[in-house]
Amino acid sequence: MTMDSKKYGDDEVINKLMNGELSLSGLSMFLEDESQSSRIRRLYLEKKYGIKFQYIVSGNMDNEDAGKRNIENMIGATQRPLGFVEAKINGEHLSGIKPIFLSTTEGRLVAGVARGLKAINSGAGATTTIIDDKMTRSIIIETSGARESKRIMSFVKSNEGFKFIKAEFSNHTKHGELLGIDCYTTGRNLFIVYKAKTGAAMGMNMVTIASNNTTAKLVDRLNEERKKQNAFEKELERSSLSSTKKLLHVLSESGNLCIDKKPAMKNVLVGRGVSIIAEAVIPKEVVKATLKTDPESMAKINYVKNYVGSGLAGSLAHNAQVANVLNAAFDAYGQDVAQIVDGVNAFDDVAVTEAGDLYVSIYIPALEVGTYGGGTIRETPKELLFASGVYGEGDNEGKTKYMLAELIATVCLAGELNLLAAESSGQLTKAHASIKRG
Ligand code: NAP
Repeated sequence: MTMDSKKYGDDEVINKLMNGELSLSGLSMFLEDESQSSRIRRLYLEKKYGIKFQYIVSGNMDNEDAGKRNIENMIGATQRPLGFVEAKINGEHLSGIKPIFLSTTEGRLVAGVARGLKAINSGAGATTTIIDDKMTRSIIIETSGARESKRIMSFVKSNEGFKFIKAEFSNHTKHGELLGIDCYTTGRNLFIVYKAKTGAAMGMNMVTIASNNTTAKLVDRLNEERKKQNAFEKELERSSLSSTKKLLHVLSESGNLCIDKKPAMKNVLVGRGVSIIAEAVIPKEVVKATLKTDPESMAKINYVKNYVGSGLAGSLAHNAQVANVLNAAFDAYGQDVAQIVDGVNAFDDVAVTEAGDLYVSIYIPALEVGTYGGGTIRETPKELLFASGVYGEGDNEGKTKYMLAELIATVCLAGELNLLAAESSGQLTKAHASIKRG
């Protein structure tokens, strides 16, 4: 700690941050005391946003509850450093300046996102738009062959069939609402894909439970009908399965055509979870002053790196580092981090506007997030969801989930902006070399 910094009490420094006399990025250097800087950032957030932190400071996880709900063979808990950034957002479900929390061990990540946001916040902010929302689960029914699969497909897609399935689905969840079903067959393997809205929850457990119970009822009904129809029986006798499996049955409760936690073009094309776009226009002067580059160079590096480079590599992901930012946000907010596999297949678009400014956007087709259930019930994620104003308890419509998606898409956009800028001005290696290693 320097001699000078000793004369500053917490309140005095917080006031300097609040009135803009001191920047958040300059705080550590000003105080030269990371413990005090960290405490002051928390107090600043509490004062500015009217929130109160408890668990992110002390830990104190309820081991009894976590051991019952979240993990087996529990021995303790892990820790990761937590930081924050502030973003100006014009969302469909939230707007204004919002704190967003990021947990990571990758030095420079939060600083990079903060630099991207500095550029975004200097203009009109990030505009976020939700394109779609659904959670999916596919079940495989084994049939006697293609003809029977085809008949079942036409039944489940008929008004009568869908009405039966929708009613049955609603018996197994209060917040889940079946939106539709898709069917695919390869012959005796019939895949039924359930698509549902899931309120504030990410919905994977919810949809799995409801769709499996529904399929069981559907199979019972189809078997009953089949028994009454001689034609089906004759067909069955001819089928390869007739000697062993006379009845239709569920072959898999999760048939991978959903598809969860595996890279897949299907989720890129039709989306899963929240499909969202974040976009911003950055004035060319800000691109120069804050990002140390120009819009033309940004557009070029995006094309060559994210489309030519990713294309040659056969990647589904046309972005620079979305996985890094998703990882930090998913960890902070208690999301299922394995679903980063699906979220990472995102598309950057960078262009120069007619006025010579920079347009930048990111499309994330499969952002699988929730603000209730799963890991969100644990102490620190719940506290941070509350601090961002998006904890989902009592939110039957899923508005908080959309708000969380808007926050996460915005930090992803900022991360892309920063990294593309760092590359187009040759600062990437220098920035990483500047942090302590080993
Ligand atoms: P969940 O922990 O099962 O929570 C959803 C439950 O909360 C439902 O029972 C729902 O009741 C209830 N609920 C109460 N208020 C709600 C509200 N406002 N909005 C939505 N639901 C509300 O969570 P999930 O999102 O379905 O599943 C997330 C978990 O699934 C994570 O732990 C993840 O790791 C895990 N996961 C499971 C699979 C799988 O295949 N099963 C795959 C990937 C991930 P109702 O249903 O009665 O409405």
